[in-house]
Amino acid sequence: METLANEVTETHQDDELQLTAFDRCDSCGSQAYVRAVTQHGELLFCAHHAKKHHAQLEPVLKQWHDESHRLDA
Ligand SMILES: [Zn+2]
Repeated sequence: METLANEVTETHQDDELQLTAFDRCDSCGSQAYVRAVTQHGELLFCAHHAKKHHAQLEPVLKQWHDESHRLDA
């Protein structure tokens, strides 16, 4: 199933914009499932690189928006 960018029916609790197929991991270019907001700006990660970089980013992390659970759906 594809996620349309203009999808309006959201039941998410947080008011973050959902990540779409157009959002790409900053490390490898795969589809991004995590948005990390730090003091220095915003980063997008696939599930793999989110795990890899989370500990390293934690000290400067302001927000961690994780949609990697959608991979298991
Ligand atoms: Zn990646």
